[in-house]
Amino acid sequence: MSGREIGFSCRLPHWVHGAVDFNRSYPTVQDKMTVVNTLARRNVEEDTGGPFGAAVFDLTTHRLVGPGVNMVVPSSNPTAHAEIVAISVAGSTLGTYDLGDEGRKPTALVTSVEPCAMCLGATPWSGVSRIVIGARDEDARAVGFDEGNKPANWIESLESRGITVVRDVLREEATKILVKYEQADKKIYNIAPMTDGVTG
Ligand SMILES: [Zn+2]
Repeated sequence: MSGREIGFSCRLPHWVHGAVDFNRSYPTVQDKMTVVNTLARRNVEEDTGGPFGAAVFDLTTHRLVGPGVNMVVPSSNPTAHAEIVAISVAGSTLGTYDLGDEGRKPTALVTSVEPCAMCLGATPWSGVSRIVIGARDEDARAVGFDEGNKPANWIESLESRGITVVRDVLREEATKILVKYEQADKKIYNIAPMTDGVTG
């Protein structure tokens, strides 16, 4: 073992290069969500992870700065949710751990499905000033994914930290991707326990 590096690397699947365009702007929330839903759908079609996509956008230029897809199963990493991957890629691209760094342009995290407990926790640490969400928690839960324990007032909680929450953007499209994944009999990891009080 001596001399071997310890750690891990995170490389998005090769097809992502052809699925996104860093040089154009995506002015509306629907434009941004279409990118994210495309990432989620392709991730299922290419068999490179779960049915979830996310991306960080610069809210001044409306350009993509960090795409993300769910990579939990292929990367053997339970934290490789699409939102965490997108935030990590954006930080690496911009060279900062704080996407809301003073003097920096505001950014939005756009996610195909409502964030789970972990991604909800990571959202304020990322420094984004807006989160845009497609499918709801109950849509993910309906196909068997666990969303973890989230406070009932999570929206107010984010907004009290200056993060605007926008929901139900192209919700139906994101939900169809979840259903397609379930129907393809793909692996549902972190299956929701059959108990009360668990949100997904
Ligand atoms: Zn998550």
